[in-house]
Amino acid sequence: GEVTGILALQGAFAEHAAMLDRLGAPWRLVRDLDDLDDSIGRLILPGGESTTQGKLLKSTGLMEPIAARIADGMPVFGTCAGMILLASHLDNDPNVYFAALDATVRRNAYGRQLGSFATTATLTLGDDSRIADFPVVFIRGPFVAQVGSEAHVVAEVDGNVVALRQGNVLATAFHPELTEDTRLHEYFLSL
Ligand code: GLN
Repeated sequence: GEVTGILALQGAFAEHAAMLDRLGAPWRLVRDLDDLDDSIGRLILPGGESTTQGKLLKSTGLMEPIAARIADGMPVFGTCAGMILLASHLDNDPNVYFAALDATVRRNAYGRQLGSFATTATLTLGDDSRIADFPVVFIRGPFVAQVGSEAHVVAEVDGNVVALRQGNVLATAFHPELTEDTRLHEYFLSL
């Protein structure tokens, strides 16, 4: 699979497509099972509203085949709501979706003041890769309440974990696709 799929059921999928265009990387919006063919080699799960995305994943039949591909090692990059879809536990929501990331995540846990803000962080990606001064933009992002032993912390802001990596799974509580900085998308394409 040469093409990056971008789950496009709801949320900020167009911004991810724009990032991949900047990098000259082929992509396809994934809205139904026909879109998820063998040409898709990796998948981005965009920010948005995780409950809505979860319902649409079930109604389209995409939930199980995507979960199977992630379990098979397909690289997946979840941003914000996408991190919620990847987490193995949610501590304030009865749902669990792909359960591919050994972490407990709390939805909408930052207060109104901290809910949306921008800063920079160093990303330590778990191999020899490191991205310094990366702009991190939060929009009511998930709070990482607990990190399990399988997951590696990629970044923290003010003592809070804001990005995680677990093998083929990369997840950020922030929105790299809303910045001009393509480095994290480029890194994801190298996985
Ligand atoms: N609050 C959203 C949710 O719980 C996630 C926020 C986002 O993706 N910007 O689904």
